[in-house]
Amino acid sequence: MLHINNVSFSYKDIPILENITFSLEKGSHLSIMGESGSGKSTLLKAIYGLLDLNSGEIFWGKQQVLGPNFNLVPGEKYMRYVAQDFNLMTFTSVAENIGEFLSVFDQENHESRINELLEVIELVNFADVKVKNLSGGQQQRVALARALAQEPEVLLLDEPFSSIDQFKKNELRHRLFPYLKEKGITILNATHDPNDILSFADNILVLKDGKTVANTSIEALYQKPKEKYVASLFGQVNELPISLLKEYTEVDASILIYPHEFEISKESGFEVYVINNHFKGGHFVIEGLAENSQTVFFTNPNALKIHARVYLNVSLQLVNKRMVHKN
Ligand code: ADP
Ligand code: MG
Repeated sequence: MLHINNVSFSYKDIPILENITFSLEKGSHLSIMGESGSGKSTLLKAIYGLLDLNSGEIFWGKQQVLGPNFNLVPGEKYMRYVAQDFNLMTFTSVAENIGEFLSVFDQENHESRINELLEVIELVNFADVKVKNLSGGQQQRVALARALAQEPEVLLLDEPFSSIDQFKKNELRHRLFPYLKEKGITILNATHDPNDILSFADNILVLKDGKTVANTSIEALYQKPKEKYVASLFGQVNELPISLLKEYTEVDASILIYPHEFEISKESGFEVYVINNHFKGGHFVIEGLAENSQTVFFTNPNALKIHARVYLNVSLQLVNKRMVHKN
């Protein structure tokens, strides 16, 4: 188990992480989400032992992670931290970059291990290419394979697919995450891409200004986000005063609704005035204006006439689930 107990950290006097507490089973996959600057990278660095904490402690099983003040070479051996700076040997080949970190006591398996890892990162045909001749995204994948060559128990990924194009990203996720699961490697994955988490992470930790705002399963987070900040991690979301719905005109609360959750009607519901259509491939996201002048996004199979009036409805079930009361 990884235990993060009440961890706080500041740069000079500016608090960056405040009282972070969570634990993680061996072999599980945690996504760390949050807007840019919310403290994701700082948290990963703290866990890896690159920072001296102001307070709190970090344990992997019985071993305590200690910062640079306590270690000549910061960074724990049983962990690997893959950051955005790839730290590769650019004048040697992909295979040599990976092989450098394989155990010297296991020479006879080197070639098959290198091949296995090349397959995970989908660079089998690039084994003999010098790293300097690869694209940024390919170099990022080599950095990942180098980390895996060291057989870490814990893998800390800091926006691991940031340089990789959308098409390749999907393939890679489907190959990498099941591979890590199979090997029983514990993953902490800092990302702001919802596609990284939707099908792979067991839990999501959401950071906002260095504080934990949620730590739960993806389903729970999606179905019952406590605030718009959390719901927005999944893409576009509407936060509307519930008084727009006729049964709730007296209630002072808001409601979080994803665009695809409205039911559209020609007769009843709250009225919106269509101002724009956004083509999304399989459907359109329609931008409408509600009577309180608020913009509302909803989906429809087809584009709607600009200036048309439609009525939107929200099911009772959603109202109950997504009502956010003012403090
Ligand atoms: P994220 O990875 O979520 O984008 P970071 O952990 O990189 O966020 O940064 C969190 C906060 O810490 C930001 O406000 C950032 O400006 C600040 N920060 C990061 N690194 C340093 C540093 N070396 N010195 C001072 N402030 C820093
Ligand atoms: Mg970061």
